[in-house]
Amino acid sequence: MNKHIVIVGGGYVGLYTALRLQRKLRSELRGGEARITIIDPQSYMTYQPFLPEAAAGNLSPRHMVAPLRRVLPQAHILNGTVTKVDHAGRVVTFQPAEGEPREIAYDVIVMAAGSISRTLPIPGLTDIGIGFKTVGEAIALRNRVLHLLDVAESTEDPEVRRRALTFVVVGAGFAGVEALAELEDMAKHSTRYYRNIKPSDIRWVLVEATNRVLPEVGPEMGRWTLEQLRERGIEVKLDTRLESCVGGHVVLSDGTEFDAETLVWTAGVKPSPVVGDSDLPLDERGRIKTTAMLTVAGSPGAFAAGDAAGVPDVTNPGQYCAPNAQHAVRQAKVLADNIVRHLRGEELVDYRHKYVGSVAGLGLHQGVANVYGVKLRGFPAWFMHRTYHLSRVPTLNRKVRVVVDWTLALFFKRETISLGEMEHPRDGFRAAVATTRR
Ligand SMILES: Cc1cc2nc3c(=O)[nH]c(=O)nc-3n(C[C@H](O)[C@H](O)[C@H](O)COP(=O)(O)OP(=O)(O)OC[C@H]3O[C@@H](n4cnc5c(N)ncnc54)[C@H](O)[C@@H]3O)c2cc1C
Repeated sequence: MNKHIVIVGGGYVGLYTALRLQRKLRSELRGGEARITIIDPQSYMTYQPFLPEAAAGNLSPRHMVAPLRRVLPQAHILNGTVTKVDHAGRVVTFQPAEGEPREIAYDVIVMAAGSISRTLPIPGLTDIGIGFKTVGEAIALRNRVLHLLDVAESTEDPEVRRRALTFVVVGAGFAGVEALAELEDMAKHSTRYYRNIKPSDIRWVLVEATNRVLPEVGPEMGRWTLEQLRERGIEVKLDTRLESCVGGHVVLSDGTEFDAETLVWTAGVKPSPVVGDSDLPLDERGRIKTTAMLTVAGSPGAFAAGDAAGVPDVTNPGQYCAPNAQHAVRQAKVLADNIVRHLRGEELVDYRHKYVGSVAGLGLHQGVANVYGVKLRGFPAWFMHRTYHLSRVPTLNRKVRVVVDWTLALFFKRETISLGEMEHPRDGFRAAVATTRR
């Protein structure tokens, strides 16, 4: 046999599946009887739970990603996107970063393309909104918050100042609450270097359409988190929707209106678009219809897991596994083992994991946790959050780098520099060329 396994997406599921296949199929990979190709626009896997810490400047962005080529020497990494999956013909269409698209044939496919932000047709949202799912977004937000403190310090126009110092986050799940809490903590810390900005001058507004925050940690800890955020001066608006934000003028469903320079949208996710560009069956939520064995229903040779897949939760009949890293990592292990069983003609096994609860960081030394029914808040929860994620971040190399970052942050004050100019590296050169012409 020379079996080609193509993995669409090099995130949690893609990376951990390939890592295990590398180990389990060692002799087949060496003997050329099997080969693995991973396709992803990026050459690294992003450890998303660390995005808020990277935005706050506690972690270097380079240390929260795992370089695919280094971690997976036995796999072929292709950078670009899969634009179509023709499972009937066992072929994907690959669009490389540069050049013409081409077709890649496979024997086994793993759909691990994850999710993207789920947006709504709200006037102005595409113009001023920013998501919080990628390293680029997290670092751009960090630069933006710090840059807007500079703007507010330097202007004499009270309107410009108020607008610059108003930050809105829509969606009070994991991503929204952690991003807001870490950024607010960082901004508050940074005000000590500004003469004319006090922490109370900065307005943070969290908008949530339901009546709870952080459902991942359960109702009791969610209520505690809500109190904490409000005690910190954050305006939390429950049962409220964003109606419009044209030109940065924010209108909420409770009648509130104000101007804001920054609006972060974290109100849910939907499967990556490639899922719809395939001939694989989808469920009612547009995810790949997946069996408990992580195969795609009625499609031999196709496997799926993670945010893009609707995986039945066998520990909770009638329900699906939630889209989170806890499931993604564990699903990847079973998925890889099932691919090996499939190649060897053995019987596949079910994915079975009972959700154990969650931990969330709410800024330096602050957190909330509900794991195996143990509820923690404040410093112990924050410590648990850090140790848990440290144990989960892939490779020893990354773990050491993360610990070094945290240790440095312990002894030296955190960095509060905006390097927003990195997003426009040619501006200075263009200005120089214009001067020469004149
Ligand atoms: C800010 C934040 C904090 C979080 N915190 C937690 C937490 O504390 N605990 C927890 O359990 N979960 C957390 N999550 C959720 C968790 O990160 C996701 O559930 C997990 O990443 C899903 O894994 P995945 O492999 O399905 O998708 P991903 O890890 O997102 O990987 C998908 C990959 O597919 C690639 N891709 C997409 N489309 C294509 C295409 N067409 N062709 C090729 N490649 C493609 C993407 O580039 C990406 O690399 C958090 C998420 C965010 C955003």
